[in-house]
Amino acid sequence: MDKVEAKRFKDLLTEKRDEIIAKAKQTLEEDMTLDANDLPDEMDLASSEYLQSFTFRLRGREKQFLDKIEQALGRIDDGSFGTCEECGEEIQAKRLEARPETPFCINCKEDQERKERAFG
Ligand SMILES: [Zn+2]
Repeated sequence: MDKVEAKRFKDLLTEKRDEIIAKAKQTLEEDMTLDANDLPDEMDLASSEYLQSFTFRLRGREKQFLDKIEQALGRIDDGSFGTCEECGEEIQAKRLEARPETPFCINCKEDQERKERAFG
């Protein structure tokens, strides 16, 4: 994967991340048990400390999805993005296009799902 492509996926992932955070922030603000004054008016996304304490409050799917995105961003930085974590093959471009946060190629993902169905 060349730098231009990596940059594009990085933008894509960052966009997705910001979207989830914005939605989650809204949810938190609507949650009356939480003091909305604890949340800054403008979220400073560069403040990783704040982001960490914020994501700590997220639960379930949002949290998992956010973790996947963070990991994918990490893989872009260390240059392993686009390579399947399971078999080491390149992940299909189409698949990355649809789910840039995925660490697995379609074959490994299908294997996993088969196993989950069989044992889960
Ligand atoms: Zn694979």
